[in-house]
Amino acid sequence: MKVDFHFHLEEGPYSLNWLQRTCQALQSTRRTPESVSPNSLEAVQSVVRQLSRRMEEGCYSERWITKYLEQGSREGISYFGVVDHLYRFKEFKPYYEKHMLLDDSPIGRLQREWLDQVCIYSIRDYLEGVQNAARFYGNLSVGVEADYFEDGEVELGELLSQYEFDYIIGSVHFLNGWGFDNPETQHHFKEQQLHELYARHFETVIKAVNSGLFQFIAHLDNLKVFGYRPSEGKLLGWYEAVASALANAGVASEINTGLAYRYPVKEMCPSPNFLRVLYRYGVPVTLSSDAHFPDDIGTMLDEAVIMAKSIGYEEIVYFKNKQPIRLPL
Ligand SMILES: [Zn+2]
Ligand SMILES: [Zn+2]
Repeated sequence: MKVDFHFHLEEGPYSLNWLQRTCQALQSTRRTPESVSPNSLEAVQSVVRQLSRRMEEGCYSERWITKYLEQGSREGISYFGVVDHLYRFKEFKPYYEKHMLLDDSPIGRLQREWLDQVCIYSIRDYLEGVQNAARFYGNLSVGVEADYFEDGEVELGELLSQYEFDYIIGSVHFLNGWGFDNPETQHHFKEQQLHELYARHFETVIKAVNSGLFQFIAHLDNLKVFGYRPSEGKLLGWYEAVASALANAGVASEINTGLAYRYPVKEMCPSPNFLRVLYRYGVPVTLSSDAHFPDDIGTMLDEAVIMAKSIGYEEIVYFKNKQPIRLPL
């Protein structure tokens, strides 16, 4: 059985590339192929109409959410979990402003610009849209992807406690305030000792596990995103430490295919070696495409299932009302 428990409805910044990618998603998820021939004026006019409706209705409209669910059902997905990043929501902006590097350094200025471009919605708009969809689609759970910052957990817990979710994903995307998965700041990897960086990363992941805030921790080895990674033999001790923390805290993780189809490293999270260690410790996993557009939902989840089975997993989990529910793979 397949689930997709980590996909997003929209992500800025709003570049021309974003606009083009949105057009592509609209085109490839339309219900019935159009009778007009491609590359004709009529075809372009039709795309413009769809795009203009999408922009007017926004990403929390029933129409946009339904595209993910319909496409996912075609891919054979039985249960869905929708999230968006907390940094999209104004209610959480002070939390990010406190913990992200936003000073006058080149990375600080770039991140300030990025945060202002992406942090534009209210979480209430998101929840209204997705909870409404969940009333019609019983197999949809509502979650959020929260960034974990060291020493930010009390504040984060208080903010999150004001809203209702089926699950909260904990993610480490920032180290010392630096968003390491932003392609524009990847040069920063070259200025650091990789062993120290990985140690810092996994220490932070373990603190996120132990915070008690999250049902599952996303993409455990996301730091490899641009291919900067020490040999895995040297990371095995960290893999064990993370797996042991997850098992002791009763927190799950995921097989996330996002890096495999969208980033230079072209490998799922966790790596097969890491997943073997998780399995040995009995850590449950869910499945995630980390799609940011409806046509990406479910991408490479068949490969993820094959990998999980080959390692020994016979079950996956999904979440409702903060409870893990087991399913045969
Ligand atoms: Zn993430
Ligand atoms: Zn994500």
